Amino acid sequence: MNSSLSKFSVIKNVRLKDNSSNISGNFFDVLIKDSLIEDVIPSRLDSSYENFLEIDGQGDILSPGFIDLHAHFRDPGFTYKEDFKSGSDAAVNGGFTTVVLMPNTNPSIDNSEILEDQYKRSKDLSVRLLHTGCLTKERKGNSLLDFQEFNSMIEKGCIGFSDDGDHLKESSMIEKALKFFSGRVPLMDHAEDDLLSNEGVMNEGVISSRLGLTGRPKSAEIRAVKQNLEIAQKTGGWIHLQHLSCEESVDLVKEAKNNGVNVTSEVTPHHILYTEDYIETYKFDSQFKVNPPLRTEKDRLKCLEGLKAGIIDVVATDHAPHSDIEKMNIFSETPSGINGLENAFGLVASQIGIAKAIEKMSEKPAQIINKISGLKIGEIKKGFCADFTMISDQKWNMDSIEIKSKSKNYLNQYSTHKEGIFLKGKPLYTIFKGEVINNE
Ligand SMILES: [Zn+2]
Repeated sequence: MNSSLSKFSVIKNVRLKDNSSNISGNFFDVLIKDSLIEDVIPSRLDSSYENFLEIDGQGDILSPGFIDLHAHFRDPGFTYKEDFKSGSDAAVNGGFTTVVLMPNTNPSIDNSEILEDQYKRSKDLSVRLLHTGCLTKERKGNSLLDFQEFNSMIEKGCIGFSDDGDHLKESSMIEKALKFFSGRVPLMDHAEDDLLSNEGVMNEGVISSRLGLTGRPKSAEIRAVKQNLEIAQKTGGWIHLQHLSCEESVDLVKEAKNNGVNVTSEVTPHHILYTEDYIETYKFDSQFKVNPPLRTEKDRLKCLEGLKAGIIDVVATDHAPHSDIEKMNIFSETPSGINGLENAFGLVASQIGIAKAIEKMSEKPAQIINKISGLKIGEIKKGFCADFTMISDQKWNMDSIEIKSKSKNYLNQYSTHKEGIFLKGKPLYTIFKGEVINNE
């Protein structure tokens, strides 16, 4: 071995999350060889490391880089909203080092050539982009991709299949796909049955009636979640439920987990922060339009509780950029979606604390990705990728950063200016494959 070709660096004087879900009061030095973690040792404080590039952590918190299992970079097809570069810059700004992209692009990602092209085009960015494929041809929900196509996409790094944006309705197709995947990759479902969601624009209830808006009932989600869980139980296949939003879903997932069903699930920052009330309070502000819709306070609290208890595995942003002009449209006409990457950690940590947010936004999603691809991320341990986020534990708001996403449909102004909730845990910079990323 010719060690002179290797690159050594050390991140000094950092605090780490310990196993009991606290941020340690002690300081550590993290040694990196090339792009992997070499060792973690108690901080040598003032002594220097010979032949090591030194990064001074200044007593801040070092987290494994954040990982988002659900984002939309709109590339190809809608790059006026976002593209690989702007999305990646937004991700870095929010402390992410790995982002999983959904396949509802134009064209949609429904064959191995286009999947391969996605990987090729996104390989030199300052975050790791992982790609998913559609379950059905052209994401139309009519016929599953051929099994040969599924296989070749899995070989090319597809880390899950989803018609996200739409629920795959046909039980026989879900069953066929789950059996075929046999736990190698998850079927990631946008669990809202559109026969029931009825093109609604907000949660169905007292407020939607009062505002005269078409409601999107919880029953649409509940029915889809039930259907998915029953088929997962029957087949032993792996279902990943995207962006859960109501209390019944949390109960159903809890029961399924107790019965040994192979299920993982996610919740978004906005579903654990906001409720349908905001649409009325802020007079139809289109930023609050999202699918599944913001629900009631009871639902919000249940999702939060489910997340903390481990019933819901991860926080995923569902970063869904839209242009200013699109979001300026009237509420019922505006496209659904909220941006999430740049304020997700601060929002989540404000609800569950910094250490728990690290677990839900790095460690747990990493375990899911590891199961699919073997990639070793999400832990600060020898042999893992040297992907990190440096976090300060100060309170902050979005005014203190320059937004990198092409789209500005973040909800943060409500949490900071109007509601007086501050974000907690500010991502300072990321280190990706051992290199400090300056997001300029
Ligand atoms: Zn979705």
